[in-house]
Amino acid sequence: MIGRQKKYQRLLSYLVMGLLLPFIANCGQSSVNQTNQNQNQTATTPSTPEQSSSVSTSGEKSKKLKVVTTFLPMYWFTKAVTGDAADVEILIPPGSEVHDFQAKPDDVQAIANASVLVKNGLGLEAFLQDTIKNAQNPKLLEIDASKGIDILKEISPVEKAGKKDEDHDHNHNHAEGNPHVWLDPVLVKQQVTNIKEGLIAKDPENKATYEANAAAYIKELDNLNSEFQQTLQKTPKCTFITFHDAYPYLAKRYNLKQVAVVEIPEDQLAPTDVKNAIDAVKKYKVKALFSEPGVDNKLLTSLAKDLNLTLRELDSLENGDTNPQDYFQAMKANLQILETACR
Ligand SMILES: [Zn+2]
Repeated sequence: MIGRQKKYQRLLSYLVMGLLLPFIANCGQSSVNQTNQNQNQTATTPSTPEQSSSVSTSGEKSKKLKVVTTFLPMYWFTKAVTGDAADVEILIPPGSEVHDFQAKPDDVQAIANASVLVKNGLGLEAFLQDTIKNAQNPKLLEIDASKGIDILKEISPVEKAGKKDEDHDHNHNHAEGNPHVWLDPVLVKQQVTNIKEGLIAKDPENKATYEANAAAYIKELDNLNSEFQQTLQKTPKCTFITFHDAYPYLAKRYNLKQVAVVEIPEDQLAPTDVKNAIDAVKKYKVKALFSEPGVDNKLLTSLAKDLNLTLRELDSLENGDTNPQDYFQAMKANLQILETACR
């Protein structure tokens, strides 16, 4: 959680009010770009794959397909498709910050030894480019789970207030769009399908297993989608402010509105920041203010008080338990929070 706190202290460094459109500048990408510059110092060339093939408990080398995934949602969706038919690893352990991740030599080694790499794409895993290069694995199949998904690229007109933070520049390139597609269960169906097709291409022997597992998970995603639809259709256009630009896909799917990403400084809010936030709350009839689990910032609490809104926690699912079923539990918890906040 320390990494997350650090991220938030930086992320919450000034106040941005995005208006009219439900998606704002993507906070993730600038920090990942920064990470990239340090890549060659931390990621080194691996030894040959044969030297570190995984060993089963019986002492024999595992014959299972070796799959490396980047962060938690990719691990969940891949593991849901493979079951026990493949060895699935996660590069970014839960508790680490995906937007700020820096690869280590172990990560290069893991990719060097793998047959398949599953990533979210859309610029989220900027550390990958150099890491894959350093892994020198010509047999690696890269699965871009977001292939074919309609990306939200539009960025709201942003009215900046307060001091500018040198460390967190919002003038970065949004060409790849907002990466947080895993927060929309319908788009996750496409991600699961992409992962399944890649796995079958590399490991046709287990085709039947991958297809059956993917179908079962997709059915659960359909049920989750119905639950979201039925619950949130009672509160159309529920408008909220967040501190992490993670919910534009979710908002679009269920007719919610993310009108502003608020970023506040570590020490104190400027009076103009507070005024702008209050104005937006009045103008857009904002119902909810969403923080995230693991974020504890007195300024958020005092801002919520000034806005006369209850501060609640929405989970962007970048951290959590590695059981694929945890996706549904976390999303259902989010649904309950949304239902209560939008009422
Ligand atoms: Zn994020």
